[in-house]
Amino acid sequence: MPSPSTINSRPTINSPWSCLETLPGLIALPRVWRARLEEMFERVKALILQANATPAQLLPCPPGCGLAHEIVCRPDGSLVATCCGDPNRPEEIVLTPADITPLEVSWSKLGRVLCEALALHGKPAALPPPNTIQIGAWSDDGVPAILTIQVCRPAFRRVVAELVARLQGPFILLAPTSDHFDAPCQELLAHARAAFARPSPPTNCSPGSRRSRKRRMRLRT
Ligand SMILES: [Zn+2]
Repeated sequence: MPSPSTINSRPTINSPWSCLETLPGLIALPRVWRARLEEMFERVKALILQANATPAQLLPCPPGCGLAHEIVCRPDGSLVATCCGDPNRPEEIVLTPADITPLEVSWSKLGRVLCEALALHGKPAALPPPNTIQIGAWSDDGVPAILTIQVCRPAFRRVVAELVARLQGPFILLAPTSDHFDAPCQELLAHARAAFARPSPPTNCSPGSRRSRKRRMRLRT
């Protein structure tokens, strides 16, 4: 798992979904999540994030010198990191325990949110490909609905190929965006009579009819 302290230098991304595909390990410090999600941070945190028990040892530099700075716990219990981007004027950054507690995606929370938003039958199951789970089943036929979150196209394609080989039957593949869904992936899914869907962000979901919820997921084969 990459250190959450090393993940910092990405531009602001205003979609909670696309944000997930930019964070290797799906873990980062609160300030990193907040910078990317802005006003959606608290909502996303409540819905799908959980605290990781291991505090960060490095802080991505808030002033933006491009480095990560060691977090020091002083004898009085205070937490500080020091930015030496300007050697003549080192800047001390005072931190709280919450500041250095990484937040990671809870797959169980995310699965429940998506099942509710898309009116899927809850049927979670672990799957071998990395960052990939079965969150539920689509319709009364029980077609598996599988969520994968990958940071690059080659990784996404490997997951698609492995799922097609393992499941050997129809399934629905969900992903935060269609950025990694290219022609070879489309071909692989077609062989398995599987479909790809990019559901609407769960944070935008509001109570509605079952029919309207199903419209939130557009299938592509
Ligand atoms: Zn710095």
